[in-house]
Amino acid sequence: MGLTGLEIFKHLPKTNCKKCGFPTCLAFAMALANGKASLEACPDVSDAAKEALSSASAPPIRLVKVGAGDNVVEMGDETEIFRHDKKFNHPTAVAITVNDTDDVAAKLDTINDLNFERVGQQYTVEMVALVNASGDAAKLKAAVEAAAAKTDKNFVLISEDAAAIEGALPAVADRKPLIYAANKDNYEKMTEVAKGSGCALAVKADNLNELAELVDKIVALGYKDLVLDPGSRDTSKVIADMTQIRRQAVRKKFRTFGYPTIAFTNKDDEQEELLQATALLSKFTSVLVMKTVKKELLLPLLSWRSNLFTDPQKPVAVEPGLHAIGDASENSPVYCTTNFSLTYYLVEGEVDATRIPSYIISVDTGGISVLTGYADNKFTAEKIAKAIKDLGVEDKVKHRKIVIPGAVAVLKGKLEDESGWEVLVGPRESSGIQKFAKSQFA
Ligand code: SF4
Repeated sequence: MGLTGLEIFKHLPKTNCKKCGFPTCLAFAMALANGKASLEACPDVSDAAKEALSSASAPPIRLVKVGAGDNVVEMGDETEIFRHDKKFNHPTAVAITVNDTDDVAAKLDTINDLNFERVGQQYTVEMVALVNASGDAAKLKAAVEAAAAKTDKNFVLISEDAAAIEGALPAVADRKPLIYAANKDNYEKMTEVAKGSGCALAVKADNLNELAELVDKIVALGYKDLVLDPGSRDTSKVIADMTQIRRQAVRKKFRTFGYPTIAFTNKDDEQEELLQATALLSKFTSVLVMKTVKKELLLPLLSWRSNLFTDPQKPVAVEPGLHAIGDASENSPVYCTTNFSLTYYLVEGEVDATRIPSYIISVDTGGISVLTGYADNKFTAEKIAKAIKDLGVEDKVKHRKIVIPGAVAVLKGKLEDESGWEVLVGPRESSGIQKFAKSQFA
């Protein structure tokens, strides 16, 4: 258990100097107790106090890394239960299962191809989970070697036979895979293998109580780079267990559960697997091991992940500016929208689909959408007129026509006065752009 705010307060200098960014030492102590501040923010704290407070200042969930060099998946280090309170720090890593009975090379080709681009962001799956489905240690070793030669992705090595893990590990030891899993029967040997290789170790039990006991035993053996599996497989039970682990770690500062987690999909129907994966990803799973390699199932899941792990207090923005779509020329249409990423890329996609080379002005609204920007005085006739001028659009095109979003048709008159340009009111939704362009510019 961590210290309370008052217990922490006793160790602080009590000068209320505000250097930490909090108005008083007590406020800082409370923030520290809730995992919302770091002890380093107080420059005057004594070494003795640092020592005493080290457990309170450690993140409630340990940061655990899988991989090495530039290719590291970080997990844990979370401080929140609800994303709207602050943000979640490390997106759930998605691992795709490859059994050692599969055609490993062929499956790796498929996995390597799971790359997506959406709204200017790149999505991919980060890990490959190599499973000792054959039960034969030699087969796992061969599969790991084949996989290592085929991909740069990080690995989870799955076998509860410590000797099989030990045998397969050398082929990828320098890539620091996640070892899955220590259980009540093999934990001593698995911990030795993990310690010896410096790889993170998953801990699997049959329920939360057994998990707590097992984690304490492994920590007592001197190893803390752990990832927790409470053993449940039914979706609602996994979610209940994951929620309990997160709550105990974040709210109660229960160190035994202060580690990242791993969960597995087990549905055979692909649509059901997607639903299950979405639920597990949403509820505190750090590594999600899946079966499907279908792009049409993974893209929505990875899009959801991207939304969930975005800082809700920071709008996702693109650079404000003038964007040429296709081989834009002096006769190309000019559209304008805001620099909210989702809006911009929707508009860009639709403008691109018109096959008419065009320009898009993304006006700096601080990354908020058209109507919100209008309501907040950030997407105004003055700002659009200024953007036209500052971006030198009058030197790029010889016409003087600009398309504004239909949702802010009300800006037409004022923008014409401010800019001297003719304003065309475009469709309310970006999905209407192609039809609009055909009628206006084809
Ligand atoms: Fe107190 Fe340290 Fe914050 Fe100053 S910087 S107010 S001494 S906690």
